Amino acid sequence: MTTNLLDYDLEGLVALCEQLGEKRFRATQLFRWIHQKGATNFEQMTDLAKSLREKLSTSACIQVPKVVSRHESTDGTIKWLFDVGAGDVIETVFIPEADRGTLCISSQAGCAVGCRFCSTGHQGFSRNLTTGEIVSQLWFAEHFLRQHLDRKNRQDRVISNVVMMGMGEPLQNYAQLLPALKVMLDDHGYGLSRRRVTVSTSGFVRMIDRLAKDCPVALAVSLHAPQDTLRDYLVPLNKKHPIAELLQACTRYQAAAPRDFITFEYCMLDGVNDQPEHAHQLVALMQTHAARGLSCKFNLIPFNPFPASGLKRSDMPQVMAFAKILMDAGIVTTIRKTRGDDIDAACGQLAGDVQDRTSADQRMAAQRQGMLGGIKVVVLKGLGA
Ligand code: SAH
Ligand code: SF4
Repeated sequence: MTTNLLDYDLEGLVALCEQLGEKRFRATQLFRWIHQKGATNFEQMTDLAKSLREKLSTSACIQVPKVVSRHESTDGTIKWLFDVGAGDVIETVFIPEADRGTLCISSQAGCAVGCRFCSTGHQGFSRNLTTGEIVSQLWFAEHFLRQHLDRKNRQDRVISNVVMMGMGEPLQNYAQLLPALKVMLDDHGYGLSRRRVTVSTSGFVRMIDRLAKDCPVALAVSLHAPQDTLRDYLVPLNKKHPIAELLQACTRYQAAAPRDFITFEYCMLDGVNDQPEHAHQLVALMQTHAARGLSCKFNLIPFNPFPASGLKRSDMPQVMAFAKILMDAGIVTTIRKTRGDDIDAACGQLAGDVQDRTSADQRMAAQRQGMLGGIKVVVLKGLGA
């Protein structure tokens, strides 16, 4: 069987080359050919000895999942669907802005967390992506865009930021995620700064601590509710790691983080979590944790609807009123612009098409049954229950 070289960070490639009797600098050359020049075959790598190229061509490959489709939005957003086999499809989204190019990457086919407002969560979980499948999304998008964007210098980097905000919960696929992050940051790879690579999590506390030690990139935490009853309902993982525990982990993370704050994402759901009382509860919560050392920034995401969610987007005045309460309390708050919604590329619309092996609909129905008892009336209203 051949080894996919996209599965390795530089240290992994060094170890692999050593097994082939090659020195460290050969691995660096190889790594640069793959990630910086986008090489797909060993013949191109003219500064590697012919004998090494021959060895590699029999034992290794550079294999990227097949692109199923590409959609381009009127706002310049591009969404790719990749076939990762056995009926699973994952999505990757490029979001161009004046001062940056952001790539939103998937970490799993489906997701086991099952957040109510997330289309990926509604599908259920199929499998973890390999490091190669995570890295391939960046490899493919970067080299595609260099060729296709109308720019003076085709060698210049196009993607300046990566957000692990596509399909899946990155911290539930930690072992594969970690080498992928290292490839993104490596100067011989994509050379992205730690501030410009963001891992977004629904709150895997243990893994937040691991990330702080192993590779402290920017952290975004999907909060979505100011108190546990509501968060238990929206983000079922909260039952395992309640808000206080999560915010303590965020405070610990801050010591290692490349930015001096943690970003909290808050999906605005009409009548569910968007009332003034929720904003006031959030302010009180953040004040309590600020006293213990937590600095935060809020990113309000107007809910992107999808069929079967049974939820509605908060209207703009509601979002603005919510933001004002936070800002009046001194919390830096932004409202996320929706990009690419004409091609279903907005947050939480990434459904791909996974083989649903966990029967998500049944699980959702059970959750709904089990949880309604504990939710306040204001919550039930928006859920149409
Ligand atoms: N699993 C990780 C990362 C992927 S989701 C996480 O949950 O953080 C990326 C972001 O999109 C998260 O903040 C998530 O809560 C948000 N999101 C999911 N579904 C959404 C929807 N339908 N509308 C708006 N935001 C959504
Ligand atoms: Fe999974 Fe994130 Fe979607 Fe929740 S929001 S189901 S954690 S991908």
